[in-house]
Amino acid sequence: MAATDRGDLTRTAILALLGTVGPLSRTEIARELDLSPATVTQLTKELIRYGMLEELDLRPSRGGRPAQRLGLVGSAGRALGVKVTADHLVIVDVRLDGEVLGSWERPFHPASPAALEELADAVAAVVETVEEAPPLLGIGVGVPGSVDEQAVGTVHAPTLGWPAMPVGERLRRRLNLPVLVENDVNALAVAERLYGRGRTHRDFLVLTIGRGVGAAIVADGRVYRGARGGAGEFGHVPVHLDGPVCGCGATGCLEAFVGSAGLVAAARARGLPAGSGEDPPAVVRELGRAADAGDEGAQAVFAEAGAILGRAAAGLVNVIDPEVVVVLGEGTTEWAHWREGFERALRRQLMPGRRDIAVEVEGWDDTSWAQGAAALVLATPFDEAGTAGEQGRLVRARLIGATP
Ligand SMILES: [Zn+2]
Repeated sequence: MAATDRGDLTRTAILALLGTVGPLSRTEIARELDLSPATVTQLTKELIRYGMLEELDLRPSRGGRPAQRLGLVGSAGRALGVKVTADHLVIVDVRLDGEVLGSWERPFHPASPAALEELADAVAAVVETVEEAPPLLGIGVGVPGSVDEQAVGTVHAPTLGWPAMPVGERLRRRLNLPVLVENDVNALAVAERLYGRGRTHRDFLVLTIGRGVGAAIVADGRVYRGARGGAGEFGHVPVHLDGPVCGCGATGCLEAFVGSAGLVAAARARGLPAGSGEDPPAVVRELGRAADAGDEGAQAVFAEAGAILGRAAAGLVNVIDPEVVVVLGEGTTEWAHWREGFERALRRQLMPGRRDIAVEVEGWDDTSWAQGAAALVLATPFDEAGTAGEQGRLVRARLIGATP
C-alpha cells in the first residue's frame, strides 16, 4: 500500500475517533490510536488546513498545561439522504455534524417501468438546487428491502415490487457522485452510531415500528448485514402457528400482527371504527387519538400489540445480547399506549440477568428515515472497516480533495 494511502487511513482514523467520542487533545488522539505525537501533530495540522478539524477551547488538565482540544468541523461536508417508500420520496440535505439544511418530498411510483429514472430525476433536481459549500460528498439511499452491498446497491424489495433493481448503478451513472444504498433500518442504525446511542454503545439493537416492523443489529460497532444484506428482518419472525398471511407469503409473522395493517385488523376485530381509508398508518393515527381520549378498546389494541412485540423482542435480545434497545419509526407516536404491554412482556421473557436492559424511544419526524440514509455517506469518513467499499474511498477523496 502506498504511503499516501496509509496517511489517508490514519486521517480517517482521527476523524472517526473525533466523530464518535467528541473533541480530544492531540495527546489523547496519539494515545487512543497508538500513534507518535509527531505523526498526530503533522496529520492534524493538515486536517485543520483542509477545514475538517478546528481547535477548540483550552481544557484545564490536572497538574499540567491546559490541553488544546480538537473537534470536527460540522461544515466540512454534506450529503443528500433519500428515503424511498411505496408512494413518495423524502430527500434531506445534511451536514457532517448531523444538522439538516433542507428537506424535500416528491411523489414516487416504484412500480412504474420508469421508476429509476423518476428517482434519478428527483435527486438530480435537488443536487442542482443545493449550495456549492460545504462540498456534497455523496448520496445515501434507504430502501425498505435488502441490498447486496452498500457500494453496489442492487435492491430486492418486494414491497416496492423490485426483484433486483440496480439502484446504485443507475444513480451513479446519472449523477456522477458517490452513491451508497442500504436497507432503511440499517441506515437508521448507522445514524444512531454516528449521532445517537451508538456514540456510547458498541452493541445495540434498533427496532422500528410503523407500516412495517424492522430491526438492525449493531455488533461491536458495526451493522450486521448477513450474507446477502438481508439481516434484521424482524417483522418476519413467526409469532403464531397460523395467523394472517403476511406480505412475505408466510403466515403468522410478527409484522402481520403489529405492523399498521395488523393493528387496523385487530381494531376491526374488536368492532372499533377503524376507518374506511386504504392507508393503514393514517387509520392507526386515528386509533392513537381515540386511545389518547380514553377509548379502552383502542388502548387495548396497542397494549396487545406491545405485548406481542415485547415477547418477540425478548427472543432477539436473548440471542444477540445488546447493551440497549432503541425503538424508532412512525409507530412510536403512539408508544405511550404500547409501552406497558411491551415492557411487561419483554422483561418477563428475558433471561435472568438481562431483565434490566434499557429500552429507549427516541424522537421521530418525517425526515428521520432520510437522515439515516444521509448518515451512510457521512459515516464513511469514519468507516475504517471499509463497509462502503470503493464508493467510500470516493467519498473520502471528495472530503479531503474539496479543500485547498
Ligand atoms: Zn412475513
